[in-house]
Amino acid sequence: MEQYYYITACVLFAVFGLCIGSFLNVVIYRLPRGMNLAKPASHCTTCGHKLAWYDNIPLLSYVILRGKCRYCGARVSPRYFAVELLNCVLWLCCPLTMYFSRGVWFALVCALAISLLLTMSLIDMENLFIPDSLQICFFLVAVGGIFADGATGWQDKLYGLLLGGGFFLFFYCASFMLFKREGMGFGDVKLMASAGLLLGWKATVVSVVFAIVVALADIVLRKIVFRSGNAGLAGSEEFAFAPYLALGIFAALLFGNALFDGYVALFV
Ligand SMILES: [Zn+2]
Repeated sequence: MEQYYYITACVLFAVFGLCIGSFLNVVIYRLPRGMNLAKPASHCTTCGHKLAWYDNIPLLSYVILRGKCRYCGARVSPRYFAVELLNCVLWLCCPLTMYFSRGVWFALVCALAISLLLTMSLIDMENLFIPDSLQICFFLVAVGGIFADGATGWQDKLYGLLLGGGFFLFFYCASFMLFKREGMGFGDVKLMASAGLLLGWKATVVSVVFAIVVALADIVLRKIVFRSGNAGLAGSEEFAFAPYLALGIFAALLFGNALFDGYVALFV
């Protein structure tokens, strides 16, 4: 019977992940432009034609219409397809890794958190800021995690908030004093405070180390291998750090505590 619940949960998570991924595309496009999320109804951004329900089926519509608008033939960004698929896979990862160890409710909290991280990352990459409305949602989801998490106590989570927020607040203040300007966005500080609350302090350490290692590797690769002085995430003077943090938080949500305990066990 437990097996039946597990499979049902996985199917439901995948379906919800797909539908929510479709909604995330709306948020990623409209929120930074100051547009209403509900109105007007979905329409082609080129010709303005209202989309019918059958133009809006996640993944399927994109494939059937071969990535073009049904009405004017304009190309639809493959990002729509990618975000739906990615969000579906990420949602499925949550019950697969957490259902038996931390319970279905914590898996749901993590799935919501991961969708918010995906949205914040893509908005940060395009606009170099994270909307406060998403930060508030992420914080509330992290608070929900306190009640849903059977494995990590609230004290551990509070230490996580202080550690994650404090670590980046230190760099934020230090760069102000040393260089008289923001070395990193304050959005990253808020993001890591909430992430710490969601993760607990052990997994927070894992997420920060992971994010910094991936960011450094990415910057070095871009400089050396591609010899690109000014491209994408890391090339320009200012770059979005949220995608690296999101990757670190995602890895830490799935494997953070196990990685931390495994690492410590090497030395004691
Ligand atoms: Zn069109």
